[in-house]
Amino acid sequence: MKLHEYQAKQIFASYGIRVPEGGWVKKPEEAYEVARKLGGEQFVVKAQVLAGGRGKAGGIKLCKNAEEVFKESQQMLGSRLRTHQTGAEGVVVNALLVERAVRIKRELYLSLTIDRSIELPVILASAQGGVEIEELAREKPEAILKLHFEPEIATSQFLGRKLAYRMGLTEKATGEYIALVGRLTKLFLEKDCSLVEINPLVLTEEETIIALDAKMNIDENALFRQKELASQRDTSEDTPQEAKAKDVGISYVHIGGSVGCMVNGAGLAMATMDLIKLAGGEPANFLDVGGGATAQQVEAAFNILLSDKNVRSVLVNIFGGIARCDVIAQGIIEAAKKVKINLPVIVRLEGTNAEIGRKMLAESGLKFETASSMKEAAEAAVKASSK
Ligand code: GDP
Ligand code: MN
Repeated sequence: MKLHEYQAKQIFASYGIRVPEGGWVKKPEEAYEVARKLGGEQFVVKAQVLAGGRGKAGGIKLCKNAEEVFKESQQMLGSRLRTHQTGAEGVVVNALLVERAVRIKRELYLSLTIDRSIELPVILASAQGGVEIEELAREKPEAILKLHFEPEIATSQFLGRKLAYRMGLTEKATGEYIALVGRLTKLFLEKDCSLVEINPLVLTEEETIIALDAKMNIDENALFRQKELASQRDTSEDTPQEAKAKDVGISYVHIGGSVGCMVNGAGLAMATMDLIKLAGGEPANFLDVGGGATAQQVEAAFNILLSDKNVRSVLVNIFGGIARCDVIAQGIIEAAKKVKINLPVIVRLEGTNAEIGRKMLAESGLKFETASSMKEAAEAAVKASSK
């Protein structure tokens, strides 16, 4: 789950991490008011979207006074921002962060994430940060330091010191940097983050260290114990299908082909997509209804698939392990009765009570095509989608 910059900065501040002064707003009048109250000679207006690369895409504007802040806010609010991370459609800007601009002496980079390959958290730090970080990582990877650590020994001073002395900072700034690493590490662990990133981390003209940008992603599997963070989730950038899927607890990723897939289990869903490809088709989506799919989830899944205009056939591939095929079949029948399905639906049931399930589908009076092997089912679905 991604947090907005303004949300992440509030959490940063609560950990004693220095962030620019400012406020988030939803209206140009509010933006004007924030700028007027802040005072100063320069302001920055920042689009609050759940994607990076805003600077290069026109989502970060420097302004000289509150009037300019008002004008830029009017332009940005409600407009679509397209960055290299949003896809071609872009996302609508619903909120802005207005800050007093910081006078930048140097831009650094600092982030924490989990290195899955060795199953440890890792700190990435560079004396060079800013909007060109991806290029730096490609062209001069040695300029980014990597420091893995065991969560148990995440003692602030140790990790911070190891990095700070290689950032080329003065004594005062070095002290701040060390403290910052400690606070950020604590935050990362306590908030169950999968990523925190400060780019740029800024050394100001006054020799202080300040987080100019803030990215924070929370591990979805930890949201049960991060209720406060979970309640801050912004779903306004989700497609209606994604929102519906989240609501009922199924995993859904839109892909764009014409064969809609409904599968139980992530591995089986991947294999199903492979088989569709092998049969010469294109999967419309990844959809995992989960090991213990309920009739309600099956119904929601049908609704999601059928609302995708590109879908020409539906492949239901269920392995009854924990879930019993007769229960699933019942769910499919109930859902099919409620949802008007006018596309070919190919069902492959295997595992516990598969026989009973198939019989139920055959006797339901609804038009399902059943297949006994996965390969057969995939081929039938691809064939049906091209008619
Ligand atoms: P991103 O492009 O989405 O990562 O957005 P950032 O918040 O990182 O802003 C992009 C760039 O805008 C930064 O690297 C800075 O160069 C510039 N910028 C942002 N805030 C300020 C500020 O307060 N003062 C100055 N001078 N530049 C800023
Ligand atoms: Mn940034």
